[in-house]
Amino acid sequence: MSEQQKRFEPSLLELTTGLLAGDRAYLSRAITLAESSRAEDQASFTELLAGIPPQANTVRVGISGIPGVGKSTFIEAFGLFLTGQNKRVAVLAVDPSSERSRGSILGDKTRMEQLAKHPLAYIRPTPAGTTRGGVADSTHKAIHLCEAAGYDTILVETVGVGQSETAVRHLVDFFLVLMLPGAGDELQGIKKGILELADALVIHKCDGDNVKKATIAKAELQQAMHLLEPNESGWTVPILTCSSVENKGIDVIWRTIEKYVAATRQNGFFLANRKNQQIYFFEQLVQEKLRSLLNTDQLRQTRETLTQQVAAGSLPPEQAAQKLWQALVNSLLLHK
Ligand code: GDP
Repeated sequence: MSEQQKRFEPSLLELTTGLLAGDRAYLSRAITLAESSRAEDQASFTELLAGIPPQANTVRVGISGIPGVGKSTFIEAFGLFLTGQNKRVAVLAVDPSSERSRGSILGDKTRMEQLAKHPLAYIRPTPAGTTRGGVADSTHKAIHLCEAAGYDTILVETVGVGQSETAVRHLVDFFLVLMLPGAGDELQGIKKGILELADALVIHKCDGDNVKKATIAKAELQQAMHLLEPNESGWTVPILTCSSVENKGIDVIWRTIEKYVAATRQNGFFLANRKNQQIYFFEQLVQEKLRSLLNTDQLRQTRETLTQQVAAGSLPPEQAAQKLWQALVNSLLLHK
């Protein structure tokens, strides 16, 4: 980090003004604040949020798929297509693996190289590991900040495997699942439940020798999708094909998303879904606050003792929970 970067500590007013003016340096600073677990940073961030109006006219797209399916190559091609349409594109990532080092999304310098340089695009490295508020918490905040800075199309990539798909589903309006062009075998490899999360399935790398395989995969997927319940948004999940290296099918994917947004805005699902996502995050944050209260040094000791008593069979779990709760209430009253 350069000396200049180190000294970049704008006041809250400067930060808000710079952010709303779309200045990337201020946007990055605001996201860093949002990712911080320091209590004073969290307080500043909450204050910052109060000065930022929510943006309704944006589109948030989740992009998922197994490692190697071509997510970053796709995001580069898709992002460049969108900037070509004069969209302002922000790329964020949800990464549930705490071992992953900071900046992994850009760890490989060749990832999204052109998009990263584009004046209408902003790419944010993945946050460092799991934040206390859950895997998606800092990305949730980053989405709002990017939108406040004028980015109208937000692409959220799932990095790693695990809970990330479900986490991203709670963050976005539209969930895109990329798949490999093999039939049958690959289908077995898809995590159970991911088909239910998708708003569109994209058979990727549909070029060269893969074209024939992709056609078969598409037919098989169409069969599989028939077995699923209809999407709660009233949307029929399409199966699309695309090649990022040949730039084929990218436009159809965007048109599909536009169609979805228009349809769900009309039937009310779009805004209802965003509202539900806000409620979901509120509940997550409340739970996180409770968890952190239970993890103070003082209570941790009580909790450990109670755990030992439960393990030894000398205290029923219900009674232990009640005692812990009482200890929590007492400590809160003491600090009032
Ligand atoms: P990620 O792990 O899902 O982010 O995947 P990457 O974007 O890193 O791509 C994995 C590999 O797939 C790389 O070797 C890419 O060159 C290749 N790849 C990506 N997109 C395409 C495509 O459209 N067609 C073909 N044939 N290969 C692709």
